[in-house]
Amino acid sequence: MSESDNKSTLADSFGRKVTYLRVSVTDRCDLRCTYCMSEDMTFLPRNEVLSLEEIERLCQVFVGMGVRKIRLTGGEPLVRRNVMELFDGLGTMLGNGLDELTLTTNGTLLSRHARDLVSAGVRRVNVSLDTLDAGRYRGITRFGSIHNVLAGVDAALTAGLKVKLNAVASRGAFESEVDDLIRFAHGQGMDLTLIEEMPLGFGLARTETHLPLSKLRADLEGRWKLIPVPDSTGGPARYVRVAETGGRLGFITPMSCNFCSACNRVRLDCTGRLFTCMGQEGSVDLRTVLRGEDSAKNTTLLENTIHGAIERKPEGHGFSIGRNHVSGIDRTMSVLGG
Ligand code: SAM
Ligand code: SF4
Repeated sequence: MSESDNKSTLADSFGRKVTYLRVSVTDRCDLRCTYCMSEDMTFLPRNEVLSLEEIERLCQVFVGMGVRKIRLTGGEPLVRRNVMELFDGLGTMLGNGLDELTLTTNGTLLSRHARDLVSAGVRRVNVSLDTLDAGRYRGITRFGSIHNVLAGVDAALTAGLKVKLNAVASRGAFESEVDDLIRFAHGQGMDLTLIEEMPLGFGLARTETHLPLSKLRADLEGRWKLIPVPDSTGGPARYVRVAETGGRLGFITPMSCNFCSACNRVRLDCTGRLFTCMGQEGSVDLRTVLRGEDSAKNTTLLENTIHGAIERKPEGHGFSIGRNHVSGIDRTMSVLGG
């Protein structure tokens, strides 16, 4: 493959352009959300996890190949030691190929880092928050304190970050609490996106908690006036405007409405495995190439490996959840990053 081919736009065999890279910088987390992790997690040995320098190098290669947006995630990205050095390094690529650098966080450490994130060039953050009830929050996260997240959201807004809240929808209390989340988010100018729970990690029960967003949306339409708005984010969320609040509400429905045909993203896990689809098993190992002896040739080798993987990007995920069955992937969201 020639050098000019390597610089061309990344596209898969279905003609989908890949411009968005999500990078899990750690599999570790300071919470244990019930839908994401088991209580007694065993985390990866540190030597299997890419160094911050290795992550930055891989990101540079992807940006050289046409990636325009990078989101750091995890695990919890802000628990990774010295992660702000990575943000600073990636921030230098903004305007030099990279259009946006962002993160998804549980928000617990956001009050400590919000201003530094802005200095690094971050303009928007996604904060995960499934309830405003302190007891329910503790239950979902197993031991988290909601006050840390609320302080983090405050700090982010004060620092000038645009904040979007993400909430995983589940059957039960969530169905009534979602109204409070809407008022809270929209009252402070934040979008709220509702995410359908995905069957990642087989040890985690699903059929009990799964709430199709089609049902939740129908319920919401009985209480709120939802006005569809054209998609402007290029992401999988479909947005409506809530007439009563003026704010935007998004629905990410991987289970009940397949969004794969417009997928523009690939994911890198914290060990350097590249996944071209979150809902399929296939991946390629970039760490071995990256750590190979002949470092001068590595960039071309990396580019060729990435091109090959993206050409084989699957058409769609294989998830399904029925009344009595779950078909998913035995890998939790925390390994690969949501
Ligand atoms: N720790 C950070 C956080 O919670 O935002 C980043 C990583 S977390 C894996 C990213 C997103 O994935 C969060 O919004 C979380 O709620 C969501 N998530 C985790 N497990 C999920 C599942 N099984 N189905 C749907 N979303 C899930
Ligand atoms: Fe941690 Fe995020 Fe998973 Fe919750 S969803 S356990 S905060 S990685």
